Amino acid sequence: MKRTNDGGARRIVVISTGGTIASRWQGTGYAADASGDDVLATAPLPEGVTVEVVDLFNVNSSRMTAAHQLALLRTVHETLADPGVDGIVITHGTDTLEETAFFLDLHHADARPVVLTGAQRPFGTGDGDGPGNLYDALQVASSVSDLGVLVVFDGRVHAARGTVKTQTLAADAFSDPSAERLGRVGFSRVDIERQPERPTPLPLPAAADKADPEVPDAVPLPRVAIVTHHSDGDPFLLNAAVGAGARGIVLVATGAGNATPEIAAAVADAVAQGVLVAVTTRVPAGPLAEIYTGGGAVDLVAAGALLTGTLRAAQARIALLATLLAEGGNGGGDPVRSTALLRRLLDGPVRAEPALATGGSRSASAVAARA
Ligand code: ASP
Repeated sequence: MKRTNDGGARRIVVISTGGTIASRWQGTGYAADASGDDVLATAPLPEGVTVEVVDLFNVNSSRMTAAHQLALLRTVHETLADPGVDGIVITHGTDTLEETAFFLDLHHADARPVVLTGAQRPFGTGDGDGPGNLYDALQVASSVSDLGVLVVFDGRVHAARGTVKTQTLAADAFSDPSAERLGRVGFSRVDIERQPERPTPLPLPAAADKADPEVPDAVPLPRVAIVTHHSDGDPFLLNAAVGAGARGIVLVATGAGNATPEIAAAVADAVAQGVLVAVTTRVPAGPLAEIYTGGGAVDLVAAGALLTGTLRAAQARIALLATLLAEGGNGGGDPVRSTALLRRLLDGPVRAEPALATGGSRSASAVAARA
């Protein structure tokens, strides 16, 4: 379907992938089944916007796979190959939205925006948040440029990097616990308060050509595992992941990045086998830091692991996946080059200065969308 409001000077493509925004009651629980056209029909269009819909797939996002994410990345690149398209909105389940958004952002080299949104309340309910979020996302997608991939939710505009789902049910589902939001949308205005700094984007990986969510083995994709440390923790699961063929491991450590001497030894063994290891933390906010020995971050780094800055587990895993895909798929690339690339993707931006991040008067590209 194509919808136009008032001449439609800005052409936005909505790619529908499922999630609560497309979920209806199935008799025992909710599941995604509404089409992209049906989802779009729930929202008014911002003035001057024309929308075309692509129904790519329809899943609840806890079932999202790397094959889905690669197929979506390919679709985004194909869509932006048309110079007449001004921006993209992707409707997506909130559960893994932060992973897909970051994956797309690491490969996004276009000034035109890609905006992900969704809903916490299901399709077709009188109190649903989907229509408002979709309207806001369309407004942002038709207004901004050079901001990379964005998450628009509950009147807030977030950078893909660092943004995580922080509420299971509440409408303000997303935030970056270590940084300010990027901006706001509402009252027909989009106000951007700071500029995200992003690493040089990666090219489309070769695997994107063949990835097919319907055919899981269409192309071999690297296994990247997440292992969490806790009191009484041991290297069992980390070693099991390596034994199962993981080419990358995210160790979710305690505190600023600490585990045990036994886990540090297991990390050294994994790295010696060519496995990329990144260390994040189970603490919601703040950076990783090399402070402690005795199995702490000092020893994990000495064992060959990389600290993830302020990135948390799910996005650190995406950085590992993107590195492995860029290096030819299933690992086996040059470990020095892979480590350098992973370092670049993890380090990513230099955060905006707090004064710029919070100062409303220094709008980087505040855009008054049609009032
Ligand atoms: N289970 C849903 C999903 O992620 C949750 C949501 O969309 O809010 O697809």
